[in-house]
Amino acid sequence: MSFLEYAPAPESRSILNLRDAYGLFIDGEFVDGSGETFATISPADETRIATISTASDADVARAVAAARHAYDKTWSKMSGRDRGKYLFRVARLVQERARELAVAESLDNGKPIKESRDVDVPLVAAWFFYYAGWADKLDYAGLGAGPRALGVAGQVIPWNFPLLMLAWKIAPALAAGNTVVIKPAETTSLSAMIFAEILQQADLPPGVVNIITGAGATGAALVSHPDVDKVAFTGSTGVGRAIAKQVAGSGKKLTLELGGKAANIVFDDAPIEQAIEGIVNGIFFNQGHVCCAGSRLLVQESIHDEVVDRLKTRLTTLRMGDPLDKNTDIGAINSREQLDRIRELSDIGEAEGAERWSAPCEIPDRGFWFAPTIFTNVQASHRIARDEIFGPVLSVLTFRTPAEAIEKANNTPYGLSAGIWSDKGSRILAVADKLRAGVVWANTFNRFDPASPFGGYKESGYGREGGRHGLLAYLKGASA
Ligand code: NAD
Repeated sequence: MSFLEYAPAPESRSILNLRDAYGLFIDGEFVDGSGETFATISPADETRIATISTASDADVARAVAAARHAYDKTWSKMSGRDRGKYLFRVARLVQERARELAVAESLDNGKPIKESRDVDVPLVAAWFFYYAGWADKLDYAGLGAGPRALGVAGQVIPWNFPLLMLAWKIAPALAAGNTVVIKPAETTSLSAMIFAEILQQADLPPGVVNIITGAGATGAALVSHPDVDKVAFTGSTGVGRAIAKQVAGSGKKLTLELGGKAANIVFDDAPIEQAIEGIVNGIFFNQGHVCCAGSRLLVQESIHDEVVDRLKTRLTTLRMGDPLDKNTDIGAINSREQLDRIRELSDIGEAEGAERWSAPCEIPDRGFWFAPTIFTNVQASHRIARDEIFGPVLSVLTFRTPAEAIEKANNTPYGLSAGIWSDKGSRILAVADKLRAGVVWANTFNRFDPASPFGGYKESGYGREGGRHGLLAYLKGASA
């Protein structure tokens, strides 16, 4: 056993009390969906976890009708103070059931338990606490005179942060006085189903939140339903574009949180040890399934070799394996489909002439796995420098001057996030000012806070989630 090998420390699954099959959560009850059922599996070993329902068009209509009824009869009549009480209750119940939610999330998504336990679930609770606090203060938030709710929000979310994306959508919508129909991604419905139980425990009035499961067709039926007033989508740029077309001219309010290809810029005066940790966190957190991942490392030429050598050394210490093991740093890729895409783009990177290096990991026999990988010798024109890989793959490019760093960083159709590593505050501010990205981190990466707005430029979408700005998307007559 080498000094870096740890004894297994698996988190127990006994805290889970899963049903064998889950229906749809409509009007406060679990009901059977009328579409075909499908299995949700563990990406770590491909075993079945539970059966999930598909909402047909008729089920979607039923969920939207329940949300409309709840909006008209209860939620829009309730004071902000009372809405806030429900949100506080939900936040506290998330905390109470935190371990269970973390285990379910890691099981279904493949992310390491230390991330679901220490990042995802605490942020879910923080989001509900934060927006609970806004519910009775909308008139005093500087959002204009008497901002009013929109009505029914139709929300569609991806699989990379299943419960956290659900919180980002539901908390501001309810705080602003809307009711919700939300669809989780088809590979990660489990934590949303446990969240539905939490809503029952919280005694949330029936119909205020409806959770429908299924694939793209269910999402399309939801966003195009005529009685939906607001569409909020997080997912790929391709689907986002299709939704924008579908919604155009309908009068529905729309926010899109889409893909990214963030530059993480390391200057030669950066604190190198910290920067290495920041680069690792930037691209290998959540297996790189992060829209704002720092997938393009821009490193100043004079320190390129040192940074790459140190990165390789650091990556050989990352532990890949069982997502439920508390020592695991890198979990499973969420689906076979995503694994195929990561493999394909990595093969293209090699074919285009970039140099590939992967950490020496033991790949388990079953499940979907991809070792942390670095490409050096990457040109700005390479697909791996342009396309979102959405996996644990880092493309390294170099620059000589701050102006070149800015130009390369902005040379992307996306604009969600960026990182700057430097000892000089003045340089950080000057560079940040010129980056076309919604979020710019300085000497850190992938930090989230409910009070801080998040969102993109260009093909990364429009609208902001989080903070006071996040309320705007759910209010009529409001302006920043
Ligand atoms: P995806 O677009 O394939 O799917 C997202 C969701 O949309 C799923 O629930 C899916 O069922 C649904 N969907 C698919 N087709 C649809 C259609 N025609 N109409 C309505 N809904 C439809 O994306 P994904 O692969 O699940 O997620 C990965 C993508 O999400 C990445 O591009 C990532 O960058 C992006 N993402 C962005 C953010 C952000 O905040 N900007 C956050 C997380 C993920």
